Amino acid sequence: MPIRILPARLANQIAAGEVVERPASVVKELVENSLDAAATRIEIDIDKGGTKLIRIRDNGGGIAREELTLALSRHATSKVSTLEDLEQILSLGFRGEALASISSVSRLVLTSRPAEQAEAWQAMTEGRDMEVKIQPASHPVGTTVEVSDLFFNTPARRKFLRTEKTEFGHIDEVIRRIALSRFDLNLSLRHNGKPVRQYRAGTLPSQQDKRLAAVCGPAFIASALRLDSEHHGLRLWGWLAPPEAARAQPDLQYTYVNGRMMRDKLLNHAVRQAYGDRLPADGHGAFVLYLELDAREVDVNVHPAKHEVRFHQARLVHDFIYQVLAQALEQPLARVVPQAEE
Ligand code: ADP
Ligand code: MG
Repeated sequence: MPIRILPARLANQIAAGEVVERPASVVKELVENSLDAAATRIEIDIDKGGTKLIRIRDNGGGIAREELTLALSRHATSKVSTLEDLEQILSLGFRGEALASISSVSRLVLTSRPAEQAEAWQAMTEGRDMEVKIQPASHPVGTTVEVSDLFFNTPARRKFLRTEKTEFGHIDEVIRRIALSRFDLNLSLRHNGKPVRQYRAGTLPSQQDKRLAAVCGPAFIASALRLDSEHHGLRLWGWLAPPEAARAQPDLQYTYVNGRMMRDKLLNHAVRQAYGDRLPADGHGAFVLYLELDAREVDVNVHPAKHEVRFHQARLVHDFIYQVLAQALEQPLARVVPQAEE
């Protein structure tokens, strides 16, 4: 076959394979967009495990009418404009790919109203035949994205979807991770019209504990070591279960780098090493850890779904995490569980 440039639609569908694996990845991308738009309230409605409908409604900054079509185009982003920006990314998104990818494999309706616009407008696409229809709509300041019939035009992808329950389980997990990433966020999740999660904003220690108990269970927070250490511009804080509270599954392991949820090898390695042989052979550690460092010290543009990062000073970061955790685990008697005000 001769070499040809792919038609835009096909290129988007191929790219969608990297970003949109299943309904939960759509939820993650859309909620991250809401967070980048400085939303303080995000409401998520899911029908049939997200295969029928994913609706994310936020009270963020909104998108101007004349930018709606652009927002749905590939490589269109308001978050990065120079290479310098790319070297110190503070937003969760930056690739300008999510909306284009998602709209290429679904029926998508984007409704938005920025504060300075008197009315809301709506853009609609169907499997990205590139024709974006725009019409007036009714919506308070903020944005709603509705994604229906995911993969309706890519049957091969659709076949890989699991049961409604499994897909919803993945969505729920994304929401739990987001809930722990931002204590100042009101977040709700409904499935088939029924409320499933409801997290209220609150950053006081007692409110953090409450959210942690809701997400990780009361047993976790009752036994967890609370830590907060800083060294050379690196800060690590969060909660760590002592070895006695090891779990049969690695299901309570949450790590964040500058507010971004991660499954990073280096982080996990440092944590595992800190637990060392304190854990029973078949036990897994449980932790919710937040690493904060200068955005220039970490490259987030490593993985399309942004699960992994690269640290410029990997050794330093690794050893810092290891030391903070190992020290916490060595001093079980000094354990302080902040029971806060209650
Ligand atoms: P990225 O997040 O990488 O910039 P996306 O395709 O996810 O790319 O979004 C494209 C653009 O659309 C964003 O840069 C942003 O300007 C706008 N946008 C998307 N979702 C929202 C939202 N919920 N609120 C405000 N603006 C949004
Ligand atoms: Mg995005």
